[in-house]
Amino acid sequence: MQLDLEIKYPTEPIKCWNKAKELRDQYYRNAATARENGGILWSGGAHGLDPVPAGFGKKVYPLTGEPYGASVAFDKPFASKCHAAAEAAGYPRDLCAYMRNYLGSKLLNQYAFGGSFPEPDFYWQFHMCCSHGKWYQEVSRIEGKDKPVLVTDLSIGPCWKKNEETGHFYYDPPENGIRYIVDQIHEQIEKLEKILKRPFQDELLFEAAENYFDILTIWPEICILNQAIPAPLDAKSMFTLYSLSTLDKASRAHADFYRELRDEVQDRVDRGIGMLATERSRVMDDIQPPWGFLKIFRYLERYGCICIGSFYSMGLMFSWDIGEDGIMRKRQTPREMGIEIKDRDQCLEILVRYLMTQFWSQNMQDHRLKAYVMKQMYDQWHCDGVMIHYNRGCEGLSLNVAEHRLALVSQGVPVMTYEGNMGDEREFDETETMKRIDTFMETLGLK
Ligand code: SF4
Repeated sequence: MQLDLEIKYPTEPIKCWNKAKELRDQYYRNAATARENGGILWSGGAHGLDPVPAGFGKKVYPLTGEPYGASVAFDKPFASKCHAAAEAAGYPRDLCAYMRNYLGSKLLNQYAFGGSFPEPDFYWQFHMCCSHGKWYQEVSRIEGKDKPVLVTDLSIGPCWKKNEETGHFYYDPPENGIRYIVDQIHEQIEKLEKILKRPFQDELLFEAAENYFDILTIWPEICILNQAIPAPLDAKSMFTLYSLSTLDKASRAHADFYRELRDEVQDRVDRGIGMLATERSRVMDDIQPPWGFLKIFRYLERYGCICIGSFYSMGLMFSWDIGEDGIMRKRQTPREMGIEIKDRDQCLEILVRYLMTQFWSQNMQDHRLKAYVMKQMYDQWHCDGVMIHYNRGCEGLSLNVAEHRLALVSQGVPVMTYEGNMGDEREFDETETMKRIDTFMETLGLK
């Protein structure tokens, strides 16, 4: 069905789109060629503190697991081979789908970007959900070369607390918990100095930390610009643009990219440039989408409905501030607050404080924060409804997802749910989901 909708807004392609693609391609090439370039390759979670390995030299390259698993999912024929390999090796279908895609690719020794799977020098993971630490223990075991696996325990939360009087959340991490994480990282730096046989350089850590703080706070600025009507970005483009943050948050090139993107998005807002010429309604979604079926976001457009982002794309790797009035704002960087980083311990402590602001990680300890943030996003981004993915592929972020739906519905928010899996195309029913979208659009009055 195609509705005859009024063209209300001018649109333009995003100018720095190709640059985002080039940076991503370069990242995966760097991982594949790290050895021959005399560099160091590590692999681990996308949420880790990338500036720490960066302290071991200029040529230290990450290969983060979750975005790699999503890239596999995007290529359905390859994903299917990876699922078969993982299942034949005994990994059950209800494990994290990103992890299964990564393990399957490793078992096949096929890199999604061509050639054999790169062999990292070490595995470096931050543990919050039950898959995190085990993931790289298994990868190292499959590889059979006894590569070091260093895992940092992050379970100090909840770090965001609810002010029962105002109903708003505020950031107040336990001080002994922050110290517990910092001390683990100090120990790991000492271990890595022995493993890599090279000294850790504080100046490189400080430099990479500046990029980390910039990346964590510039993307929220970009998201705030997306409150404009027409929206200068949509969910599908945001999934591509935010992903550089999941690849490497220590990278100067990535930080510079986000500065350039922010200026471009500001310019789009100033000139009234939208992503959807017929925008007349806005929805948001919650967590990982089914990566092989991003067309669901295009399907909304036939109704003049734009998806303006999600709890995932706006919040995953980033550091937000919530004011006493409940308004989500960009968090200031240490430099913006006039803090001068002088030594390793201070730098690590500030890094850990920013790391623990990330909303997603609290979902394993207090699910109310996610529902609260989604309602704030719904209000601040002028949404008319929320799409919730009952994602069987992620036990961490799907935890309490039905409670999040109830919390939103009880506050009068129209919600549609659909079942699927972020990384396993066998668990997504495209026809049924499109039918649900049709019904949801009708309930929003978009006929
Ligand atoms: S939080 Fe989800 S995506 Fe991340 S490791 Fe856990 S199950 Fe996988």
